[in-house]
Amino acid sequence: MSLLTEAPRRTDVASFNNLVGGEWVAASNGAWLDNINPADTSDIVGRFPASTAKDAEAAVRAAAMAFPAWRKTSISARAKILNKAADYLDVHAEDFAIEMTREMGKPVNLARDEILRSAQTLRFYAVEGQSFAGEVFPQDDASMIVYTEREPLGVVSVITPWNFPVSIPARKIAPALITGNTVVFKPSSDAPLSGYRLAEAFVAAGLPKGVLNLISGRASDVGAAITTPPVVRAISFTGSTAAGEAIHRSVGITTRTQMELGGKNPLIVMDDADLDRAVDLAVKGGLSLTGQACTGTSRVLVMRAVKAAFTEKLLAKIKTLKIGNGLTAGNDIGPLATARQLETVLRYVEIGKREAKWLTGGDRLSGPGYSCGYYVSPAVFTDVTQDMRIAREEIFGPVLALIEVESYEDAIAKANDSEYGLSAAIATTNPALMHAFARDIESGTVKINRTTTGNLINAPFGGVKRSSTSTFRESGRTGLEFYTQIKTIYRGI
Ligand code: NAD
Repeated sequence: MSLLTEAPRRTDVASFNNLVGGEWVAASNGAWLDNINPADTSDIVGRFPASTAKDAEAAVRAAAMAFPAWRKTSISARAKILNKAADYLDVHAEDFAIEMTREMGKPVNLARDEILRSAQTLRFYAVEGQSFAGEVFPQDDASMIVYTEREPLGVVSVITPWNFPVSIPARKIAPALITGNTVVFKPSSDAPLSGYRLAEAFVAAGLPKGVLNLISGRASDVGAAITTPPVVRAISFTGSTAAGEAIHRSVGITTRTQMELGGKNPLIVMDDADLDRAVDLAVKGGLSLTGQACTGTSRVLVMRAVKAAFTEKLLAKIKTLKIGNGLTAGNDIGPLATARQLETVLRYVEIGKREAKWLTGGDRLSGPGYSCGYYVSPAVFTDVTQDMRIAREEIFGPVLALIEVESYEDAIAKANDSEYGLSAAIATTNPALMHAFARDIESGTVKINRTTTGNLINAPFGGVKRSSTSTFRESGRTGLEFYTQIKTIYRGI
């Protein structure tokens, strides 16, 4: 069936305001940005404020004003709000999943999982936050007690990308709020509706005014206003390395930063690997989400002895993938999320064709079901070498670069020869290599016979090298640390 008949059609376009100081307000200049469905660009999912710096400053002020009362709010009251917001996400998961698919293209089953996982994240922090405390230190003076307290930082800016538009904000906002901070949240202007729904969940849960503020708009208009004021005591950012590094450089010493950035994630396929399984890891890790996961596999380092067999199986598997609108059940791969993404991927395909051996894909799809969307077929290049741009630069699309290796040592050297270090995987049946890989690979996340993608909400997550500031990890109990500072107290009797 054609995509055009399947995509929900709208005659009206709803507008979604900012949330500032507890009020839903439009941008002060009255300007709007369209949120466009990448599967059908005639479908405008909603209109969002094209906020100004003035609007963003108002959001920072509102967060600063709300901080004194929120930090004194009891931990059980804060936890209750997180739990209620989680309930709201659960109840609306089906509708919000459809909206997420419409605004950024991922298959609706993955969108639903993301919303339910985000609800679980809120509940996780509602519990973990209640036992996140300081320490008492043994010492010689019986008339004194020495202990630490973890106190909130103040106003925290949360800046997020479009690819996980609810789960990334949730894993930042939940630990920020439970530890007593107030938040200015800027979702990506390419997929702001899912972030809006998260803010709505907190409002429905009874979050006091000003504790969470939502600002939609272009980074060039609102970015500096929510990152550079000294009252912003922390910035948790997920996005491209270029933007994260620029923000990190622009802030003063009193603003803590947590930058979760790009990747060029390798999968090593050893000659003892189960090749069907290895192919599955490459396809699921590299092509699901249309290659638009920060942890997505983009380099496959395959042993010479199995390269031909692996490649043959990989190409056969790719042929079976169904590409199409994420709202249609059974489709494996949706469109790229934006026109900019489409342009970038097509550009890298051209670069790949010049510098390596093209095997398949990389075409913009047209015809029934495709002509109104940003669809590209998965591309595979082989004979890729370390100096090539497709081996070094983050593409963030459905493009796999096959690199031949001759030994485990060669594979590790090539895998580590990257400025990034977010996630890395190995396919092997050799326990000694599993152990060695976990030790040798320069990566924040290590996967053994698992896809480079996917991480638990209760385990630490983050990269090394240019994939992260690396000082604080997200997710899990560790995710709370970024949002608190330690105060040491010496109390005499
Ligand atoms: P992006 O850097 O263009 O934008 C991310 C967010 O930052 C958006 O909300 C954007 O508006 C905002 N932004 C950009 N410049 C800013 C500035 N100067 N000041 C304030 N805000 C600014 O990234 P994107 O295209 O939305 O997302 C894709 C990138 O995100 C990829 O590089 C991917 O690897 C990365 N990513 C990383 C992780 C991770 O956990 N490491 C997870 C998902 C995505």
